[in-house]
Amino acid sequence: MTAIAVRTNLEARAVEELERSFRGELVRPGEPAYDERRKVWNGSIERFPALIARCAGVADVIAAVRFARDSGLAVAVRGGGHSFPGLSVCDGGLVIDLGPLKGIRVDPEARTARAQAGVLLGELDRETQAFGLAVPSGIVTHTGVAGLTLGGGIGWLMRKHGLTIDQLLAADVVTADGELVRASETENPDLFWGLRGGGGNFGIVTEFEFRLNPLDPTVLAGPIFWPMSESASVLRFYRDWIAEAPDELMTIVVHRKAPPVPFVPPDLHGELVVGVALCYAGPVEDGERFVRPLRKFGSPVLDLCEPKPFLAHQGMFDPSFPHGWSYYMRACDVAELTDEVIDITVDHSLRIRSPLTAFPIWQRGGAAARIDEQATAFNGRGAGYSFNVTAVTESAEGFDEEREWVRNFWSALAPHHTSVYVNFLMDEGDERIRQAYGAEKYDKLKALKRRYDPDNFFRLNQNIKP
Ligand SMILES: Cc1cc2nc3c(=O)[nH]c(=O)nc-3n(C[C@H](O)[C@H](O)[C@H](O)COP(=O)(O)OP(=O)(O)OC[C@H]3O[C@@H](n4cnc5c(N)ncnc54)[C@H](O)[C@@H]3O)c2cc1C
Repeated sequence: MTAIAVRTNLEARAVEELERSFRGELVRPGEPAYDERRKVWNGSIERFPALIARCAGVADVIAAVRFARDSGLAVAVRGGGHSFPGLSVCDGGLVIDLGPLKGIRVDPEARTARAQAGVLLGELDRETQAFGLAVPSGIVTHTGVAGLTLGGGIGWLMRKHGLTIDQLLAADVVTADGELVRASETENPDLFWGLRGGGGNFGIVTEFEFRLNPLDPTVLAGPIFWPMSESASVLRFYRDWIAEAPDELMTIVVHRKAPPVPFVPPDLHGELVVGVALCYAGPVEDGERFVRPLRKFGSPVLDLCEPKPFLAHQGMFDPSFPHGWSYYMRACDVAELTDEVIDITVDHSLRIRSPLTAFPIWQRGGAAARIDEQATAFNGRGAGYSFNVTAVTESAEGFDEEREWVRNFWSALAPHHTSVYVNFLMDEGDERIRQAYGAEKYDKLKALKRRYDPDNFFRLNQNIKP
């Protein structure tokens, strides 16, 4: 659909009426800001909404919801714009863009933080770390707090403090009727349960309130790399080594070609490597002691693990996943890194072609796994490891081949799949969403959807049909 075709579908009079009271910005097709504002993080997604409503406050969100209802437009909700399948932009509908809602308030005494729906992970970390506090979140600073939290939120601190949703104390939500409600353990507790993993199915969260955890601003963190030809032995050693890991330690294994960046020696540029990236969320000396055997294993070609500001570590993966490149990802959890899983991983990793493809295998467990599986809508707390098999190219060139590599790799792992994290789904259909939640939770979510959004007004998401 072209921008011109989109423009004719929406009555100018209705938009003018919305604009009269709207405090934020309305962006229409053909306007100078339109192309910039419709872009999402994944450059392989190209969609043309009829209107983009950049909300300046809760009143704008309510007005936008009511406008969409009256005009019959499909609604995409945008927090940080990092949905892998691009669910926060649509063709011909209304994008309710929460990006301008940047308010953050930290209460260091009470150890709580309020963050509005347009806040990005790095912005929240910056404010909380000023007081030696943190909300466990994800590993790329330009990801949105909103979408990440509503799916669950896994990252460097989850083994120590739990998932992002495990810190959620309350949320302000604009419902499909355009009403503002609050959800917490005591106010609309059913909705509060569903928001913690159920995504954007039940309403638009305008503000989150989190519990904060102490975190020393200096952590032992960073990656250690070996040639990928040693990956089979590195992974076998790694799996045994982390079996005894304390909750403070969180690791992510990465297979990729070494990038041509200043801190990588030139003779490694473009070479296939395997890295174990880690963050020790405790005293640096304890971390050094635990990490020593890993450092000594085999012949690492690069060791970038050192004491550093947590904020710097949080930005480590940012250059590997910038806005605008083409991304495709298939994800799965596995229970264990068995010899067979390792062999499949090594076999496929050696076939990475794109210099930009980099895929994480996440260590799970720790505090996040000890919370009752039924306590929140998030599913799969007991997973051993999460694979995000990700293809990355700078443009469309070579993307199809790399995407095929992802599909083959993911299929080879199929006999070992257990759960899947809903925020790591592409556009994979209803059955896969059901699998992500498991039958029992899915039915509970369906009942909740019937209560809060019986018309499926919020359907451009990992949709739970009422
Ligand atoms: C580079 C990158 C790194 C990532 N790293 C991690 C990680 O470390 N840990 C992790 O857990 N996940 C991670 N993810 C996955 C991430 O959690 C999801 O992609 C998440 O949906 C992104 O949230 P967003 O607000 O940026 O996305 P958006 O694209 O804006 O939104 C995603 C979905 O959430 C809905 N939504 C967004 N805001 C609201 C709101 N305020 N109210 C209701 N619904 C809303 C949208 O409608 C959409 O369906 C990563 C993704 C990327 C692209």
